[in-house]
Amino acid sequence: MTQVIRAPAALADKVAGWKRSGMRVGVVPTMGALHAGHISLLNMARRYCDRVIVTIFVNPLQFNQAADLDAYPRTEVGDIAMLQAVNADVAFIPTVADMYPNGFDTRVSVGGVAELMEGAHRPGHFDGMATVVTKLLGMTQPGWAFFGEKDWQQLLIVRRLAADLNLPVHVVGCPTVREPDGLAMSSRNLRLSTPARKIAPALYQVMQQTAQALRMGRDPVMEIADAHARILAEGFSSIDYLDLCAGDTLQPTLSDPSARLFAAAWVDGIRLIDNVAI
Ligand code: AMP
Repeated sequence: MTQVIRAPAALADKVAGWKRSGMRVGVVPTMGALHAGHISLLNMARRYCDRVIVTIFVNPLQFNQAADLDAYPRTEVGDIAMLQAVNADVAFIPTVADMYPNGFDTRVSVGGVAELMEGAHRPGHFDGMATVVTKLLGMTQPGWAFFGEKDWQQLLIVRRLAADLNLPVHVVGCPTVREPDGLAMSSRNLRLSTPARKIAPALYQVMQQTAQALRMGRDPVMEIADAHARILAEGFSSIDYLDLCAGDTLQPTLSDPSARLFAAAWVDGIRLIDNVAI
């Protein structure tokens, strides 16, 4: 039975009780509109923890455009039903006023890896994300926190902030869950028009083909230029970036063994991101 908790004080009581009983507590932070990708994080959390909290909070601080915040899908009733079905222990759903009461005046700002890719294209996004994640870790006091590799850069930033701020939490990365056609599951997919939904899987398909070509030793500069052209030819309207970067530092590379291909591209007004290993 999943307990829905909205008040931070009630959550603190719940967690304190678990900790007194020696239980291992894990958290899966989300913005709701839950899908199988989120549920995979919960399932991973179950392997490490005795109790799992899924947080649902559409964080205004991490949206750099008001219209994007307004349009973000909100499906709370369905989310709670999904969490009941997989027996999450707690769904923590705070209000904006509880998260950011009058007088709230602190930001958590990560440098380095947060300044590239998504950081360069979405000013303020990662400060907002880092601030809310730090708050959620403070509120849920978990030993383990689970994040998706779909948002690889976010995962690196959370690891960085946990290490830099000495937060007593293990940050666990979980593989990207995809639709049968390869499209990375994302709450934003709900906003794709029917034609855009048909185009969307091409991003991953081209990235996979490019990764395969690079594994076979083909020239990265030529392959990436070709991939760029093919993604646009498939119907994407623009590409914010399509870069080969080291998986740990996110620095551009042509040869690093940890290299991954990272992309952000627009289709019919929706921005999709993805990344694949080389
Ligand atoms: P979001 O609700 O989009 O903020 O995502 C909440 C968490 O779920 C983040 O750690 C995401 O990286 C993770 N996540 C989102 N989509 C996927 C996916 N398709 N596969 C795995 N994890 C995901």
